Amino acid sequence: RFRAMVIDDRDGKPVAGFRELVLADLPDNDVLVEVHFSTLNYKDGLAITGKGRIARRMPMVGGVDLSGIVVESRHADWQAGDKVVVNGWGLSETEWGGYSRFQRLKAEWLTRLPAGFTLEEAMAIGTAGYTAALAVQALEDWGAIEEGGSEVLVTGAAGGVGSVAIALLAARGYTVTASTGRPETHDYLADLGASGFIDRNTLSEKGGALQKERWAGAIDSVGSTTLANVLAQTLRSGAVAACGLAGGADLPATVMPHILRGVALLGIDSVMAPHPRREKAWALLAESLDREKLARMTQHEPLSRLPELAAEIVAGKVRGRVVFDVAK
Ligand code: NAP
Repeated sequence: RFRAMVIDDRDGKPVAGFRELVLADLPDNDVLVEVHFSTLNYKDGLAITGKGRIARRMPMVGGVDLSGIVVESRHADWQAGDKVVVNGWGLSETEWGGYSRFQRLKAEWLTRLPAGFTLEEAMAIGTAGYTAALAVQALEDWGAIEEGGSEVLVTGAAGGVGSVAIALLAARGYTVTASTGRPETHDYLADLGASGFIDRNTLSEKGGALQKERWAGAIDSVGSTTLANVLAQTLRSGAVAACGLAGGADLPATVMPHILRGVALLGIDSVMAPHPRREKAWALLAESLDREKLARMTQHEPLSRLPELAAEIVAGKVRGRVVFDVAK
């Protein structure tokens, strides 16, 4: 018997709670993994608190991410003892996820633990950190930003995506401005590599269609009027990587920045990103994420604390990243 966080339907509402499972309860997928670590992303917070409809079938084991060791495999690509990471692929939405001591997974969802990271570090990074890497990669591939000079804005700066994005951008030589609603995090964000700050309220109020050009690139976790303002402040031929909706899923914007300044809006999808893009993102993390900064942005928790931390992340109170020891 082992413990898992299960989301189930109660009178039409998703309700999450710990439950005891046995191996026979797990889905009939090819690779059985002993899960060592998982993590907390905003989406996990929505799923566990029931504030968002993330689970699309019930019962559902939560957890978008996991890292662990293969116990047995019916697929030639994976053998007992392999260290693996899973990010996304519908975990906690349509497929059972990482908040469980054991999970059976499809072979094609597994990524080999990237060289240079421990199982625990891989979850300190988690979907939030890997998404930050996808966003940096998207801005560089688009040609919007150039190492050693460009000014890049990061919104939702003290959150998980934001914290990792700042550390990566600073390590790659960009000048990083952090937008946060928590002034008490300025020292923390400066330590990660931010050199300028703006109050998130200045971005959340409706602004003009074209504003003073400030940013060569931006990584946005907030959406809504914030994203509209960021687009309106982006330099000619710059780009904004849209990752999240912590401030709202709407986008009250005009086409003006796009048609008059050639600004690009680049969508970031971590869940179904193909393997080559994932491998590039993990390589970027291996190259540019300072492990000590990662340690300073991460809090280590037993999985038993998931319910309270899920409520905190939805309330915007978690700083940086949370990694869960799934055995505790
Ligand atoms: P997180 O740790 O909670 O970070 C979100 C941050 O956004 C908060 O720390 C806060 O930063 C800011 N924020 C929260 N509520 C806000 C509001 N009402 N208005 C303005 N700012 C607000 O979450 P995360 O795990 O980093 O995820 C960030 C976002 O990216 C989420 O929307 C998540 O769903 C999305 N995401 C998308 C993908 C993808 O594949 N596209 C992958 C991962 C995450 P400050 O306190 O610094 O202001």
